[in-house]
Amino acid sequence: MGSQLTMYITLVCTSGVLNLYLCLYAFSKRHKYTNIANYFIFYTAAISIYCFASAMTLISTTLEQISFWNTILYIGMPTSATLGLLYVMSYLGFKLSFRRSMLILLIPFITIIMVATNHWHHLHYRVFELDPNLGAPFVYQEIGIWYMVHGVYTFASMFVAFLLLLSHWKETGKAYRPQLIALMFGQLVPTLTAFLYLNGLTPAGVDPVPMILWLSSLLYLWAINSSRLFRIMPIAKDTIYNSINDGAIVLDESYRLIEFNQASKAMMPNLNKSMFGNNFVKFWKEQTGEALPFKLVTDGIATQEIKLCSEGMERIYQVRITSLDQARNRKGLLLVFTDITEIKRLQEKLEQQAYNDELTKIYNRRAFIQQCEQDFEAARETGLPFTVLLMDIDYFKRVNDTYGHHVGDQLLVHVVKVCQTQLQEGHFFARYGGEEFVIALKGYKEAEGITIADRLRGAVEKAPLMTEAGNLSATLSIGVAEVKDWTEETLYKLLHKADTALYAAKEEGRNRVKVYVSSEGVVK
Ligand code: GH3
Ligand code: MG
Ligand code: MG
Repeated sequence: MGSQLTMYITLVCTSGVLNLYLCLYAFSKRHKYTNIANYFIFYTAAISIYCFASAMTLISTTLEQISFWNTILYIGMPTSATLGLLYVMSYLGFKLSFRRSMLILLIPFITIIMVATNHWHHLHYRVFELDPNLGAPFVYQEIGIWYMVHGVYTFASMFVAFLLLLSHWKETGKAYRPQLIALMFGQLVPTLTAFLYLNGLTPAGVDPVPMILWLSSLLYLWAINSSRLFRIMPIAKDTIYNSINDGAIVLDESYRLIEFNQASKAMMPNLNKSMFGNNFVKFWKEQTGEALPFKLVTDGIATQEIKLCSEGMERIYQVRITSLDQARNRKGLLLVFTDITEIKRLQEKLEQQAYNDELTKIYNRRAFIQQCEQDFEAARETGLPFTVLLMDIDYFKRVNDTYGHHVGDQLLVHVVKVCQTQLQEGHFFARYGGEEFVIALKGYKEAEGITIADRLRGAVEKAPLMTEAGNLSATLSIGVAEVKDWTEETLYKLLHKADTALYAAKEEGRNRVKVYVSSEGVVK
């Protein structure tokens, strides 16, 4: 009997030392680890208390000593099973609030109180006395009602932890399966031992669980060191699937809805679980106004841009549609939505800024050149006439100097507005720079260009700008040039000719229209 007892104590102490080591190890490295390490620290601390107190009961010689150490043992034992469950839950990605954790630990906490106060109510042990045959430290006990509650709860905690690990087998990547196996056996070993003990299938008088816990500890030690438990964890795919910002929807080969994540539900509030198994084609058309692109391009991917209204706001999504042909022979479609509203708005704003003049809101020189080159080439190909007008406000510097830059700005805007009243569709009007403007007239001959130029000049002259300092008149000098010979004409040469004519208008006294005639510099 003595040597058997020594073996028990040795095993129990080995488990205690190993768990204490694991606890201190995880504690010392807790800053480097993920959150699950915290539960692991409490879990192993509780097991250590359980094991060392168990060893103390085994070396006790009186019932009082045994009772005392048994109470200490209960601080560790029921809590360790439940903390094991909490730690497995956090490992698998369950969200555990402090309140929820405390609620799960409630029964173990009550058990501790029940054991400590058992001599008053005898609800945990009906009888707890020294074994009449074996003597100390062996105990004869008859269990009470609370013992059963505690036993079932403790056993269930360990078993549920094991089942949770098992249920994540499929979605755990191959690389993490050994880690999962280690954790499963870490739970299974005490669960089975507790099961045997609760059914009276182990030597009477002693609790065999702490004797076997060293095996679980070795498995955890291996998991920590070899497969980096706590650092990287195979969080359940569900958690990832639901926590990404992109919407994801899975359809089967008949376009029936199989799965959707929380983000896609936020994008399409009408989506709900009762639609699982329903055909998705009609719903998609109703929601987006677009047909699903069934014909995916050769590499099995198509993209679609869609607009959806959520909370009264229109948002733009890019949808990547991937064929699931390759995945384990399961056919179907995966739709991934990315919200590109902000990118689109920024793009539009940048385009607006890049092509429009900030002050007058008409096209700027860059936009003019880009667009006009196309019109110019189109006219060359179709043989249409092409005329440009280059206009410059006369003595504009004086306006700035006399009334200030601010009034100069107002005058620029005013002149643009007056010109716009005279222009028609197809007259391509842009700010060429400073106080110079350009108009491209595709399909117009020189004579028509002169008419338009005269109209513009007259309109500006007759419409002074009302300012606080009084009415401010402006006049325009305009140069006109038409393409005469397409063989060697370019847009730049044509603009240069219009500029020559404009220069002539300035030279002749301003507020007039001049036309470029020939390369000899003749301007009429
Ligand atoms: P001319 O009749 O020969 O064209 O004389 P001008 O004074 O109109 O011509 P000049 O080229 O000497 O001066 C143009 C002035 O236009 C110089 C510049 O400070 C001013 N200017 C250019 N862009 C702006 C602008 O956006 N706002 C204001 N207020 N002034 C501008
Ligand atoms: Mg000027
Ligand atoms: Mg100028």
